[in-house]
Amino acid sequence: PIYLDYNATTPVDERVLAEMIPWFSQNFGNAASRSHLYGWQAEEAVSVARVQVAKLLGAGEKDIVFTSGATESNNLAIKGVFEAFGKEKNHIITIATEHKAILDVCTHLEQFGAKITVLLPDTDGLITTAQITEVIGANTLLVSAMYANNETGVIFPIEEIAKVCREKNVFFHTDATQAVGKLPINLRNTPIDLLSLSAHKLYGAKGIGALYVNRNNPRLKVIAQMDGGKHERGMRSGTLNVPGIVSLGKACDLARLEMSANQEKLSFLRNKLEQTILSMLENTSVNGGNAPRLAHVTNIAFGGVDGEMLLGNLKNIAVSSGSACTSASVLPSHVLKAMGINDDLAYSSIRFSLGKYTTEEEIDFTVNHVVEVIEKMR
Ligand code: PLP
Repeated sequence: PIYLDYNATTPVDERVLAEMIPWFSQNFGNAASRSHLYGWQAEEAVSVARVQVAKLLGAGEKDIVFTSGATESNNLAIKGVFEAFGKEKNHIITIATEHKAILDVCTHLEQFGAKITVLLPDTDGLITTAQITEVIGANTLLVSAMYANNETGVIFPIEEIAKVCREKNVFFHTDATQAVGKLPINLRNTPIDLLSLSAHKLYGAKGIGALYVNRNNPRLKVIAQMDGGKHERGMRSGTLNVPGIVSLGKACDLARLEMSANQEKLSFLRNKLEQTILSMLENTSVNGGNAPRLAHVTNIAFGGVDGEMLLGNLKNIAVSSGSACTSASVLPSHVLKAMGINDDLAYSSIRFSLGKYTTEEEIDFTVNHVVEVIEKMR
């Protein structure tokens, strides 16, 4: 089938693979081995990657903590801040359309005394900074709001939210897993305290990611969730995944250089896919369609078809309904539900997420396939 599920994961770019391979068996040293060349080489590769990641974000390399991916980064950010400050302030604000790796962390912290406010977005999946300002109180410790949504591609006003949080002396975390490498991000100009990212969403390897921890905010403290050999300046112990880290660095470097060309091509293909489907099929709409969106994503609701049958019938394309991470359950997407979309329409909504290897032929084929399947089902 044609792969249109790049928000779930991406293939490793061949150039990334070529960079990472030598670090498995040729240069296999432990980056923490300080007494010989094997260790020094690995340590050097990690520092190169750290600079590459930092450069894409407009951050300092000392702000980058390598983790096993965005799930871990989100856990470290939210639990780490709560452990450091939870006794003084225990209120955390987040949004109903966040990934489960945020929502479940917040729920977990409730048993340790956290008070969680989950804001509901409007029907386009957006929230306003005013909604956040309204619920910030003297007890508010942290706001966590994603940069862009994985299911709809809706982009949040992160720079504004970050500024409001800074003014109110509240820490701000953003899950930027779907935005890094897709949108220009410059942390030098934006008061973001913590930012999560994952390599496998931008053509790097799976099981590697990073948390940006803003060292320019002297108030910020994050308690490690993994104790041990004090790697990553004590913030995340465990022998570094050198090949993974090299892949993340190279992926960030390529994204920095190729982002604008990729996004231009992708927005053309996404618009063609979306507009053609909408013009050929009645009773079809784009979830989050009136909000600013990532250029490579469209989430289309097909009214009047059985959602359970739909995905099975679309067997020539690899797409998803709801997020892959929750596809073990058969519940309608919590993201679409939070936007006020009814269960039936949520079930019959499909996320198409394109990537840099998507071709116009694939899009044309997809349009025909979708139109044919939907017409048959109706
Ligand atoms: N956050 C968002 C917004 C995501 O889309 C994903 C991926 O599904 C994650 C977090 C989890 O990332 P990882 O697979 O690196 O743990």
